This record gives sequence, structure tokens and C-alpha cells, in this order.
Amino acid sequence: MLGTIAKKLRMLGFDTHYYNTINDDDLITSAKKENRIIITKDYILVAKAANQDIPTIQIFTITEKEQLVEITRKMSWKKLTLDNPRCSICNGILQKTSKQDIIGIIPPKVAESVQEFWQCDKCSHIYWVGTHIRNLERLIAEINDTL
Ligand SMILES: [Zn+2]
Repeated sequence: MLGTIAKKLRMLGFDTHYYNTINDDDLITSAKKENRIIITKDYILVAKAANQDIPTIQIFTITEKEQLVEITRKMSWKKLTLDNPRCSICNGILQKTSKQDIIGIIPPKVAESVQEFWQCDKCSHIYWVGTHIRNLERLIAEINDTL
């Protein structure tokens, strides 16, 4: 399962759909319709997609970092950034929002200590720079060093 990679790709700004349960034919049809690249560990799916000229990235590695390096290299991306993040939950676009607009929604401790917030334009989930983002920033820096 590449669900955590899908979430990270969204945070990195890539328009990413993730299907946990979908059959190969439906996935291929969807990828074709939306001009998408299929990222999977499943070599049978890779072969089926190749038959229909759908671009694929077959993942061979185990760790998240290795998998992101594989994807980044195959896509010929020069550098990963968090400059244009998407919602890790729903793939919506994150917009900067002011603390005043979300003051009753965020935990009081966060409101005291954090100044910058982003909100998803689809599901309204609120993001701020906390441990998760700092860990992701570290991971991105390590990956960028290998590119
Ligand atoms: Zn969202």
C-alpha cells in the first residue's frame, strides 16, 4: 500500500488520487481519462497499464524515503518543496488563512504559539507547521541531498 506516499505527494504539491480498493480496469480507465501516472508496487497492474499506454512508476523499494526518491528520479523532478501544498486528506488546495478566522476551531495551545495557518479549499481541514511538517521538511531535505 502506498497510502502514506500519496499523502506526502499531496503535501509536496502533486495532484494525487489514491485508491485503496479499486480494480485494475477501473484504475486504468480513470488514469487514462485524467491523464495520470499510475504509481504502484503491483507488476501485473504495470503490465496491464503498459498495454494501454498508461505511464506507470513501479515501486521496488521498501522505505518511504526510498520510495519518494524512486518517484522523484523517475519523474525527473529537480527538487522537492512544500511551497504549494495540497491537502493530505482530500487533495484539495491549501490557502493561507488568518488566525482570527479559525480561532474557535484550532486548539487553544496552537492558537497561542503558531502564527501561520492554511486551510483546505475542499474539506476545510486546517494545517499549521507542527511536528508532522517539520519531520516532512527533514525528509525532503534528505531526499533533495540525494538528487
Ligand atoms: Zn482537504
